[in-house]
Amino acid sequence: MEFEIVIGLEVHAQLKTKTKIFCGCSTAFGAAPNTHTCPVCLGMPGVLPVLNRRVVEYALKTAVATNCEIQKNSRFARKNYFYPDLPKGYQISQYEAPIARNGFIRLETAGGVKTIRINRIHMEEDAGKLIHDPAENFSRVDFNRTGVPLMEIVSEPDIRTPEEASEYLKVLHSLIRYIDVCDGNMEEGGFRCDANVSIMPKGSAVFGTRTEVKNMNSFKNVEKALAYEIERQREIIEDGGLVVQETRLWDPDRGVTVSMRGKEEAHDYRYFPDPDLLPLAIDDAWIDQIRSESPELPDDRKRRFQTEYGLPMYDCALLTGDREIADYFETCLETFPKAKPVSNWIMGSLLGLLNTLGVGADQSPVSPEDLGKLLKLVDEGVVSGAMAKTVFDEMALAGKSPMEIIEEKGLVQVSDSDLLESLVTEVLSGHPEEVESYKAGKTKLMGFFVGLIMRRTSGKANPKIVNQLLKEKLK
Ligand code: ADP
Ligand code: MG
Ligand code: ZN
Repeated sequence: MEFEIVIGLEVHAQLKTKTKIFCGCSTAFGAAPNTHTCPVCLGMPGVLPVLNRRVVEYALKTAVATNCEIQKNSRFARKNYFYPDLPKGYQISQYEAPIARNGFIRLETAGGVKTIRINRIHMEEDAGKLIHDPAENFSRVDFNRTGVPLMEIVSEPDIRTPEEASEYLKVLHSLIRYIDVCDGNMEEGGFRCDANVSIMPKGSAVFGTRTEVKNMNSFKNVEKALAYEIERQREIIEDGGLVVQETRLWDPDRGVTVSMRGKEEAHDYRYFPDPDLLPLAIDDAWIDQIRSESPELPDDRKRRFQTEYGLPMYDCALLTGDREIADYFETCLETFPKAKPVSNWIMGSLLGLLNTLGVGADQSPVSPEDLGKLLKLVDEGVVSGAMAKTVFDEMALAGKSPMEIIEEKGLVQVSDSDLLESLVTEVLSGHPEEVESYKAGKTKLMGFFVGLIMRRTSGKANPKIVNQLLKEKLK
């Protein structure tokens, strides 16, 4: 039987605020356990939560960037359950009245542009973290993360393949970093995704029973977990069985999903409006302000790069996928306004360097101005293209300007025609047989002559001038 795959994703993104959603405790990662806590986030009796305005602002920015309808009236609810990392016995989350609904984002897929609808965006608080040390026969709990602001972005079940799922995540990931509301750190759990997946006979109007897969901390793992889960469901159905609606955990070491718990229903949580928090009302002025401050988004920037700079789509997508890279590119163009060479250098040498160092373009040891200056020097023939990579590597190490390095290392290109001419004459008279062969039609020998002159000048001869001189003399 042929099956159709149906996937819907729930993304939890940690918002980049300095303090927690309902108290003034720090959200900084990596502090000693339980040092970023207070009576509010520890859930002591009688304390009152106060909503962090910045959390709302960030959720609104995301709503605008994902084409959502902002809900002028929304509300916080209590989601009740017991777990040792949840001191209050309930999580404050938006439930029946989220801050945003009905949005969409666009993906570039093999089959063209595809729209994935977004069902809702809501705000909620994170829970704490249990620490299980195998050397101890008990567990510890760290409440530093309790009350850290999260935003949940829920897609409609519009995704049809594991690859599309990971593309959707990449676009969303890039988007929230662009608008600067989330740092997107997947290892630290700042960007997590639960994947809902089901299969149904091709053409069916009714979705199959879904499972929800958790614990994937990279785009690649989301794809792998979904592919595994689809196969698992297919086998069950082909054997005449029924898929059980449940939550499953991805085990990256074994490459399988394992059952974690039966699917909980909303009524299990006894949701009710949190009486400690006022309904959230957002006025038009605030929405207008957010809209007017919205930066150019990756999709628009990609299109602009294509029309304004005439770059191939591949370059545009790569350069604009990351805001810092796109900014770096445009700053570099202010010094050296030739888009394609700048793009090549960024996609090659610069990205390689940043990858090795593990830093963003905003922390690059080679500034965009200096890269621009280097490319200008190549363009003017002061340094050869071949030598430029050496200069670049040295710039990254020493943090010096390109001209300083070129002078220090004596890398200035030899463009002195008289000097080059005498070299050419010397080389040609030293190789009369090759000159004969060349004149008899073996023009490939040009490379041989150029090579000899390059060797004599330690690679510093201006290849353009050398070629020109050789051609003249070999006529
Ligand atoms: P819950 O809150 O119980 O997880 P939701 O209705 O909020 O359920 O849906 C969660 C996610 O599951 C959404 O992203 C939705 O698109 C997706 N989803 C719903 N039904 C299916 C299905 N049959 N197959 C795959 N995904 C689904
Ligand atoms: Mg869910
Ligand atoms: Zn606190």
